[in-house]
Amino acid sequence: DRRFLIAGNWKMNGLLQDGVDLAKAVAAGSDGRKAELLVCPPATLIKPIVDAIGGAAVAVGGQDCHYEDSGAFTGDISPTMLKDLGCGYVILGHSERRAYHGESDAEVKAKAEAAHDAGLVAIICVGETEAQRDANETLTVISTQLYGSVPEAATPDNTVIAYEPVWAIGTGRTATPEQAQDVHDHIRTYGMATFGPDNWDGVRILYGGSMKPGNAGELLSQPDVDGGLIGGASLKADDFLGIADAA
Ligand code: 13P
Repeated sequence: DRRFLIAGNWKMNGLLQDGVDLAKAVAAGSDGRKAELLVCPPATLIKPIVDAIGGAAVAVGGQDCHYEDSGAFTGDISPTMLKDLGCGYVILGHSERRAYHGESDAEVKAKAEAAHDAGLVAIICVGETEAQRDANETLTVISTQLYGSVPEAATPDNTVIAYEPVWAIGTGRTATPEQAQDVHDHIRTYGMATFGPDNWDGVRILYGGSMKPGNAGELLSQPDVDGGLIGGASLKADDFLGIADAA
């Protein structure tokens, strides 16, 4: 009984007024939805967006956090700080952070543990590159990332997995529903074998990579696709809510 989670990763987009307007438009369409809605704006916009959303059923999350709660880490943001502003979630180990900030599996795991300690749900991202897929390494790469990035104590309440094939991010090339389901099934099976069956039946596994209103329905109808992590299409309320409509 996994509730769909439709999550927007705004990445490094949005100034104050546009961001607040977008969040308000999402909030205005949030009533009575089957899917849970989440927006993850840049850190600079979290507080005004939490305020703008008010009591509407839209959760707010960060896009990254540090693995320590405070200290001499210039430029970083701690999980406690996100929680303090009203965040319920944090995205961790996105492929852009792995690629541009050299984040390792071990670092992602430490961040996830810190997020859990702060009372945040960690959305842990995994995904293969095109070269890895072409070399038939997809499932091995995913297993290695899961093994290294997911805390042993992960539960359905504190952890969400996002499968984001790197070749599908921002490219307009979406995984086919079959490709997504194959990997999601592998994630659940691997998670159950490694971390325990009771835990992993309920863990939500999101698909991310060029998800749009037009392709969301067939992706979300796969048995192990429990939602979406949406980049580009989360920057327009109509597109984002259109994807939620398909859930
Ligand atoms: P796009 O939806 O723009 O392909 O981005 C996906 C993503 O990286 C979400 O985290």
